[in-house]
Amino acid sequence: MPYVETYYGPAAGADAQRLALSGRIEADACIVGGGLAGLTAALELARRGRKVCVLEGERVAWGASGRNGGFVSPGYSARYETIERQVGAHDAKSLHRLSIEGAEAVAANLDALGVADANRADGIFATSRYEATAELQRRRDWLEREFDYRVEFRTQAQVQETLASRRYFQALYNPHAFHLNPLNYARALAREIERLGGEVFEASPANSLTRDGAVGVVSTGGGQVRAKDVVIACGGYTGGLAPKLRRSYLPIATYVMLTKPDAALIGGAIRTTAAIGDGRRAGDYYRLVEGGERILWGGKITTRRTEPRQLARLLHQSMVSTYPQLADLEVDMAWSGLMAYARHLMPQIGRLGEGLWYCTAFGGHGLNTTAIGGTLVAEAIVGDSDRYRLFEPFGLTWNGGLAGRCAVQAAYWALQATDLVNERRLLH
Ligand SMILES: Cc1cc2nc3c(=O)[nH]c(=O)nc-3n(C[C@H](O)[C@H](O)[C@H](O)COP(=O)(O)OP(=O)(O)OC[C@H]3O[C@@H](n4cnc5c(N)ncnc54)[C@H](O)[C@@H]3O)c2cc1C
Repeated sequence: MPYVETYYGPAAGADAQRLALSGRIEADACIVGGGLAGLTAALELARRGRKVCVLEGERVAWGASGRNGGFVSPGYSARYETIERQVGAHDAKSLHRLSIEGAEAVAANLDALGVADANRADGIFATSRYEATAELQRRRDWLEREFDYRVEFRTQAQVQETLASRRYFQALYNPHAFHLNPLNYARALAREIERLGGEVFEASPANSLTRDGAVGVVSTGGGQVRAKDVVIACGGYTGGLAPKLRRSYLPIATYVMLTKPDAALIGGAIRTTAAIGDGRRAGDYYRLVEGGERILWGGKITTRRTEPRQLARLLHQSMVSTYPQLADLEVDMAWSGLMAYARHLMPQIGRLGEGLWYCTAFGGHGLNTTAIGGTLVAEAIVGDSDRYRLFEPFGLTWNGGLAGRCAVQAAYWALQATDLVNERRLLH
């Protein structure tokens, strides 16, 4: 079983490697990090007529953005109730509306850029592993009342017609949510930035960031970019470039595996082209790929990288505990990626100082939130809006160092234990 960086690459056919930065160049804005946050910020600035330069240390979307599960849906890693407690009812609603806008922005980009190889497929089921009729119907009604956002309730019988698993009870089906190949989406954004006159450099890790009067100076081993505005968008791979940012998030690893092909066996268990997630904290999420030939299955988080064979075994176990009929379906490959989590679980979007912006900590809910993060930073830089201030209450809180990591791992295990107890209680 090979352990790969991401499966999307070979299947999709990569763009040619871009040049590394060499020599000195000038731009209106320099974006450090070529994941979806950095690419969206750069694209939105380019669309507003700014000359942009993206510096990516490896390849475009080499980090979480090219490795993720591809689920695009509204919301944040933090729960709505927690957000509301922090910012009040009015701003919590505005933040949720922004998260819907983020998912819509990804859909709009797919259409505008004609990204056929992103293989967009509509619909996500949020399943429950315990009796949750009243809870899910309340949520459906609340989304419609507060946000005019319609999702559909599915009974247990309906769910089990679609998903042949005794683990599942009811579900909410979101027809507006969708899933895609995230690497091909990111590559399309990079090509559009270049079409609009921007520059994207690969193999160009920024190693220092200074200021020369009103101008930011970003240096790599081979060159230097001078720009009025600098955006740091390095996600879970943020290093020593901005120590304050590095201290304000925890890198959390999460995992995905791909099964070997067996359309007949898989089709007997999962009878939908929509994606499926369960309501547990860091629960399972999966979807069919390659026309139903294989399952892409994700789940689990740790504060350290797990040994590849062990991780494939753990994900396979999750799949078989949900679908025992898939016990003989083997794992073909597995990979992991790092997400950036702030302790408050909300994105960190804001200004560190004159002309210095950050756009990071999108956690496990990054496809819609990087789209708004990048857009809000671009709007702020050109003076179109100060909507990024909605994220100010969350701020750059200290991650707690090693103790913070241990606390996250312990909290995750505790939550897993609670989920298990809930399921057992209701199953037996
Ligand atoms: C396995 C996995 C599954 C996930 N599934 C989902 C999902 O289904 N739905 C969802 O919404 N979210 C999901 N997420 C979360 C989502 O992928 C992330 O939140 C999002 O991609 C973060 O984007 P980013 O641009 O902030 O960071 P990244 O994509 O990690 O990009 C950061 C980039 O910065 C570069 N970089 C770092 N330092 C430097 C430097 N000094 N100079 C230059 N470049 C630098 C890195 O090389 C990297 O390419 C998942 C994440 C993982 C890991």
